[in-house]
Amino acid sequence: MDQFDLEHIWHPYTSMMNPLPTFKVKRAYGVTIELDDGCQLIDGMSSWWCTIHGYNHPELNRAAKDQLDQMSHIMFGGFTHDPAINLGKILLKITPPSLDKIFYSDSGSVSVEVALKMAVQYWTAQGLSQKTNFITTRSGYHGDTWNAMSVCDPVTGMHQIFGSSLAKRIFVPAPQTPFDADWNPEEMHVVEQMLEAHHQELAAFIIEPIVQGAGGMRFYHPEYLRQLKQLCDKYHLLLIFDEIATGFGRTGKLFAWEHAQVEPDIMCIGKGLTGGYMSLAATLTSKHVAEIISQGEAGVFMHGPTFMGNPLACAVAYKSTQLLIEQDWQSNIRRIETQLQQLHSLAELDHVANVRTLGAIGVVELKYNVNMRELQQRFVELGIWIRPFGKLVYIMPPYVITTHELEQLLQNMIKVVREMEQGVHYGVA
Ligand SMILES: *Cc1c(COP(=O)(O)O)cnc(C)c1O
Repeated sequence: MDQFDLEHIWHPYTSMMNPLPTFKVKRAYGVTIELDDGCQLIDGMSSWWCTIHGYNHPELNRAAKDQLDQMSHIMFGGFTHDPAINLGKILLKITPPSLDKIFYSDSGSVSVEVALKMAVQYWTAQGLSQKTNFITTRSGYHGDTWNAMSVCDPVTGMHQIFGSSLAKRIFVPAPQTPFDADWNPEEMHVVEQMLEAHHQELAAFIIEPIVQGAGGMRFYHPEYLRQLKQLCDKYHLLLIFDEIATGFGRTGKLFAWEHAQVEPDIMCIGKGLTGGYMSLAATLTSKHVAEIISQGEAGVFMHGPTFMGNPLACAVAYKSTQLLIEQDWQSNIRRIETQLQQLHSLAELDHVANVRTLGAIGVVELKYNVNMRELQQRFVELGIWIRPFGKLVYIMPPYVITTHELEQLLQNMIKVVREMEQGVHYGVA
């Protein structure tokens, strides 16, 4: 571990005084992460859903270098440029047909803030200034900025720590019927009751379609979204899909709404957008929502980050998206999905609660919280990179992973989960 880093640099969700260990990375290419000491790891995380084409991709490198020679940044107020326009054109081809207007921002959390602000402006523009609150499900995750945080799961999220400084949202239970189980028609009753009781103060329902990511890695039934759409229409709420994690092929569809064929009013994308090269996100909405916002007293949408539409990020995002859709990505994801089935052999173990796979995501849910510090160290010893959290040991590898590399990743992951059964508990409480 690096002493300066240890003493002065904060890492995600950890103590400054007693931080979790960090491994120093020298470089990364394909699915290989090379540490300072020369040790090589096979990446199972895609740097948190981002690096869909792997690291150091020649075509993405070239797109970045070419754009660098033109300009890396220019303010978006009063200017526009080809990278933003080209990216917009390709995004509108692959996102829900009813979405037509794009707002670029610099991170997923900001794109969620933008989505929430759009929803509020949509209703206030129509004189419904009491429709300012939000409803969402438990086990959700929408980012770490203030209002994004307020719609994260109230227990596993950050509500305790921030207490009354967070706006109070309305929560319904997490979707219950698993992705491939029989739909339970009772499931929407609670949602309808809550909407019935609160709709006059609600601007929108925000949800991650099909896969709830950092809030618990849960996969739920597409019918939930179809029913939810009907309820949102009935009770006059906008529907926001947060596809920041699920986008760009990860669940086996280009975007997860396609599993249900339900189009949202507003959609957030990020993470895989630039293939993991830099931070960029976007909030898309319909012509209708944009028109209403423009008719309001303000007449404008009130947001404009400094790095809005950053040309360097847009150029790489365009290339990454083009790379994805020009290849037979569906069969590639199916290949990964098929290989991930191996994880189901762990379901019989006493300490394993559930194993689930969807697209290029594989999740092993244990019955107790794992010790991230020790477990991660063990994975590194075995030459793989997996960062578990809570009860979850999960992978979502870059799509360029070869069958052989994925075999090594899976075999070592399975080995470690089995070791836990044999009494090697990695310090588990
Ligand atoms: C990661 C994530 C976010 C936040 O994105 P950042 O780029 O980390 O701000 C929001 N929603 C979902 C579903 C995510 O997975």
